[in-house]
Amino acid sequence: MRPDSPTSGAGSTRRTVEEHLAVILAATSASPAESVLLADAVGRTLAAPVLARVDVPLFDNSAMDGFAVRHADVADADAERPVTLRVVADIPAGSPVDPPLAPGEAARIMTGAPVPTAASAVIPVEDARGGFAASATAVVVTARPRSEGAHIRRRGEDVRAGAEVAPAGTVVGPLQAAAFAASGVDRVQVHRNPRVAVISTGSELAPTGGDFTRGQIPESNSILLASSCRQAGADVVSVTTVRDDDAAFSAALVHATEDLGADVVVTSGGVSAGAYEVVRSVLGDRISFVSVAMQPGEPQAFGRVGGALVFGLPGNPVSVAMSFEAFVRPALLALQGRSALHPPVLRLPAATGWRSKEGRRQFVPARIDRDDPSRWSVQPATAGGSGSHLAAGLARAEAYVVVPEDVSTVHAGDLVDVVMLS
Ligand code: AMP
Ligand code: MG
Repeated sequence: MRPDSPTSGAGSTRRTVEEHLAVILAATSASPAESVLLADAVGRTLAAPVLARVDVPLFDNSAMDGFAVRHADVADADAERPVTLRVVADIPAGSPVDPPLAPGEAARIMTGAPVPTAASAVIPVEDARGGFAASATAVVVTARPRSEGAHIRRRGEDVRAGAEVAPAGTVVGPLQAAAFAASGVDRVQVHRNPRVAVISTGSELAPTGGDFTRGQIPESNSILLASSCRQAGADVVSVTTVRDDDAAFSAALVHATEDLGADVVVTSGGVSAGAYEVVRSVLGDRISFVSVAMQPGEPQAFGRVGGALVFGLPGNPVSVAMSFEAFVRPALLALQGRSALHPPVLRLPAATGWRSKEGRRQFVPARIDRDDPSRWSVQPATAGGSGSHLAAGLARAEAYVVVPEDVSTVHAGDLVDVVMLS
C-alpha cells in the first residue's frame, strides 16, 4: 500500500486547508433560482427572503376556551363577588360571526376563534363557575382577568404582512416550512440543486458484492461520495467506476460534463505521485494539482472543466471522507446559496491520546461516548489512528476531530474540536 504521499512533483504547490477552500469557493457561485411548492422546498436553500403574505395571527383570536367579555364588566370579579353575564353567542373555531356585546353580555368562545370586536378580554372556562355545562345562557365569572386584553392573541403580533419570515440563504426544514405556511405562503424561491457526477478510478476496484481476484479490492468510494453529495443537497446524476486508463477516464468525464451537464464532478484516486495516476494524467494541465497541509487527504486536485467544477480527491476511503467534509460539502452548500457553509464545532475532551503530524491539520473520523449526557468524550473511530486505509473503522464514526497544524500530540482529557457528521 502506498499512503497518500505529498505531491513533490513538478508544478505542485503547498496550501493550507483555508487557502485551498478559498480557491474552491472563489470558483463557486450559487445555482439559479426556481420556484417550488413548500412541500418540495424542504432541504433546499432560499434564493430570496420569504415575506409574510398575511398578518400572523390573521385576526384577534382567543388563546383559551372560555368567554369573550367586556373587560369593564368583570374588572372586579372574584370568588366573593362573582359577576353574572348573559351568554348571547357561541363562537367555535372557524366561525365568522362577530356578535355585538352589550354591557353585561358575553360570548362562549373556543381557542383560535375570532374574538368579537366588542370584547376586550377572554375569561378561561376554569374561571366560570360550573364550566361550560353550567353556562349555556348565563356565566358566573369568579376571577378578574389579569389585564385588559387578557387571553387575546392580537392580529399580527407574531409577524406583519410584508415582514421577513426568513432571509435568503436559509435552509428550509420542517419548522421553516411550517412558518411559511402559517404566513400564507405556498411557494418559495430556492436554488437549483447542484448536479453531481461521481467517478471512482482504479484498476484494482471491483464491485463489492462479487468475488475478488488477487489484487482486487471492494470499491467503496462511490457509495461514500454519492450518498454524501445527496445528503449535502445535490442531485447525483451518475456514479461510475473506471480503470486507470486515460481513454476510459476521459470518456467518463466527457459524459458527465457534456452529456449529463454536471455542475460538479467528484473523482477519487489517481491524483498523487505514483505511476498510474489517471486523473493527473488526463487533467494535469487543465486543473490544479496541489498538496494541502492536511492529513489524511494531502494530494488534492481542483479546477474547472467546461461548465463543471472538478474535485480530484485522493483514493483512500478515509482521505475521501475527510476531503469531502473539508472541501466538497462547503462547495455544494455554496452552490445552493447556503449562508452557513461551515458546520458547528463542539469542544469535547479526548477519551484517549494520539499523535498528529506537525504542520498538517489532522482530520480524524471519531466516535463519541455519550454515556454521561453532561460529559461527552471523543476518540478516534479507526483502530490505527488516522491511517487513511482503515476504511472499515468508518462504520464507527459519527463525527470527526480536527487537530490544528501546530499540535503533535493529543493527550487524554485535552479539549478537541469535533464536528458531527449528519
Ligand atoms: P490512489 O490515490 O488511486 O493511489 O488510491 C489510494 C488508495 O486508495 C489505494 O490503496 C486504492 O486501492 C484505494 N482506493 C482508491 N479508490 C478506491 C475506491 N473507489 N474504493 C476503495 N478504495 C479505493
Ligand atoms: Mg488509484
